[in-house]
Amino acid sequence: MPDTPRPSRLVPEVDLARDGRQTGFIRLFHSTHDSAYGFLPIPIVVVKNGEGPTALFTSGNHGDEYEGQVALTNLAQWLTPDMVQGRVIILPMANYPAALAGRRVSPIDDLNMNRIFPGDPDGTVTRQIAHFIDSQLIPLADLVIDLHSGGSSLNYVPCALAKQSADPALYAKQLAALRAFGAPFCYIQGGAQGQGGDQTLGSGADRRGSISLGTELGGCGTVNPAGLKIAERGLRNLLVHLGIIGQTHWQEPPEPTRFLDVRGQDYYVYAPEGGVFEPLVALGDMVVAGQPAARIHTPETPWQKPVEIAFKAAGMVMCQRIPARTKRGDCLFHLASDLAVD
Ligand code: CA
Repeated sequence: MPDTPRPSRLVPEVDLARDGRQTGFIRLFHSTHDSAYGFLPIPIVVVKNGEGPTALFTSGNHGDEYEGQVALTNLAQWLTPDMVQGRVIILPMANYPAALAGRRVSPIDDLNMNRIFPGDPDGTVTRQIAHFIDSQLIPLADLVIDLHSGGSSLNYVPCALAKQSADPALYAKQLAALRAFGAPFCYIQGGAQGQGGDQTLGSGADRRGSISLGTELGGCGTVNPAGLKIAERGLRNLLVHLGIIGQTHWQEPPEPTRFLDVRGQDYYVYAPEGGVFEPLVALGDMVVAGQPAARIHTPETPWQKPVEIAFKAAGMVMCQRIPARTKRGDCLFHLASDLAVD
């Protein structure tokens, strides 16, 4: 007997095929000591009008990243069906338990949703959510943007990004969509990062043939106002780019984007020892190979000299660790360098 796809157990309160504006929850039934018959309410807003492309906008995949959650909440209140030709699906707290707790990973199963795609309909809570997004929402979408930030432990130069699709036609569409989003910087993710890149929501979107984009809008577990503004404008310009909303509804065109790439492990700086991390450069600095990046101090043994770490490549400092207290293996920085694109 052939395998039949196992169905999702999640129950949306909205009908994704219906015209109009619908708001509600995707119910994930979760029986606990405190709530025997209860469900986890994952908020969703769908705005649809007739035939046309579908955009799927997600944030809160990591629950401690807030610019995207605010941008999508504002967008959900701004969009009306008469503005739209096609469909916009908005999921501001994609990993709802993590987002409600303000944590990168779910407090229920301790899973990082962006490392488990395509998920599992019979798995733990986070695996079930990933599976619903992958099997029920992404297949509807011509374009998916998953809005991220640095979270509690990192800070980013606000930017957009894409993991380069293996399909050249889809890659060309990714580049066009990144230009339409119009962040001042965007970087193309290579494959050699060791960051679980094939198990992300964005990889799920790419596997299903959607134009897949991401962002890093700031971090530090707060709302970066500059990153929020980039997202607010970028999301509306993506809708114009797709033909979902007309320019009569939005007249702030994108600004030029500087394309960068992250070429591999040499672009990352890791702590070789535990201690107190002293950064020697700032976010957005241009650095050269061999330039000192950081010192790790050990006030536990104040007679011991700090360990100094140098950059192995040249580029722009895109990302910096936030907490000073650091363990061996923590990522302290990553770089990006200019990329020529057609
Ligand atoms: Ca993230």
